[in-house]
Amino acid sequence: MDMNIVILRLGHRPERDQRVTTHVGLTARALGASGMLLASNDKGVIISLNEVAGRWGGSFFARIVDSWKQEVRSWKEGGGRVVHLTMYGQNLPDVIDDISKEESLMVVVGAEKVPPDIYQAADWNVAVGSQPHSEIAALAVFMDRVNAARGTEPLTQEFPGGKLKIVPHDQGKVVKEV
Ligand code: SAM
Repeated sequence: MDMNIVILRLGHRPERDQRVTTHVGLTARALGASGMLLASNDKGVIISLNEVAGRWGGSFFARIVDSWKQEVRSWKEGGGRVVHLTMYGQNLPDVIDDISKEESLMVVVGAEKVPPDIYQAADWNVAVGSQPHSEIAALAVFMDRVNAARGTEPLTQEFPGGKLKIVPHDQGKVVKEV
């Protein structure tokens, strides 16, 4: 059973969060998510993530959504479950076994603030350790722990269809055009 993980990015402020939101998307893609939904109107972030996906392969998508509530509702109607990453939630080691049994997960990450309704809308509010840190770090650890619980290895996944491919090397940079 393959897992389908989609990230929902809330609270993005175009004037401040472009770099962090882009890194949320890049991290999601590199660690095996299918796509990222951005609940703010910032086309620049979407263009740059889709360009990376075109250049480096795979089927990751990024798109803007008008209503995060509608996205959450239709995800749940389709049988998916929703994990909101927040330092106030249940600690990840206590819930990872249940979460990793799910086939379709929407993973919600915030910026400075999240709308309070997301705590009720989520099936799980999950802390990646009960200390404040970062949405990029929280997402990376979450993705890695879910994969580990399922016995899958995101770091060796293939990204077919790209124009560039890195050839791992002990020194220097080796990139081939494909
Ligand atoms: N007060 C926020 C909170 O509820 O976690 C901290 C804001 S933090 C700058 C931005 C985002 O990083 C949060 O919305 C959350 O998704 C993520 N985050 C930060 N620390 C986290 C932690 N320990 N566990 C899970 N997610 C965390």
